[in-house]
Amino acid sequence: MPGSFDDLLDANRHNQADFAFAGLTGRPRRGLAVVACMDTRIDPLAVLGLQPGDAKILRNAGARVTDDVVRSLAIVVANLGVDRVAVIAHTDCAMNKLSADELRASVAATSGQTTDDWDPLAVEDQVATLRADVDRLHHDPLLPDDLTIGAFVYDVETGALTPLA
Ligand SMILES: [Zn+2]
Repeated sequence: MPGSFDDLLDANRHNQADFAFAGLTGRPRRGLAVVACMDTRIDPLAVLGLQPGDAKILRNAGARVTDDVVRSLAIVVANLGVDRVAVIAHTDCAMNKLSADELRASVAATSGQTTDDWDPLAVEDQVATLRADVDRLHHDPLLPDDLTIGAFVYDVETGALTPLA
């Protein structure tokens, strides 16, 4: 139903009937935070064999380590026992397939705004970008030196998660 959220509210009423997650806290049981792309084909909990309550999940276009991802990680590391971070990029990612210019042009068209100076954080080289993003986490002054950081690529066709070599 376009423009309505009735379908979601209806589904939520059904979900409440067998709700099983009462009593969980915001402290992730597995000490894990995941940075993943917002791609519709990725269910981070299922991919990693996790349940609600196990991990903090941060998602954005391209699984990029942005200022806000660093902000969120600094907070959960300092307050909620997170001691490892998995950054998960994936195959067939739109942020890898579309250039920065194409992304700027598309947003200019829908918004009517000039986007020449806007950085959509496009991913030209996925492996190089993952390495740079992990490097940023390793060196960010707000994150402790002993934080364990892993980088992975998820294959949306096979479901395989491959650590970055
Ligand atoms: Zn993606």
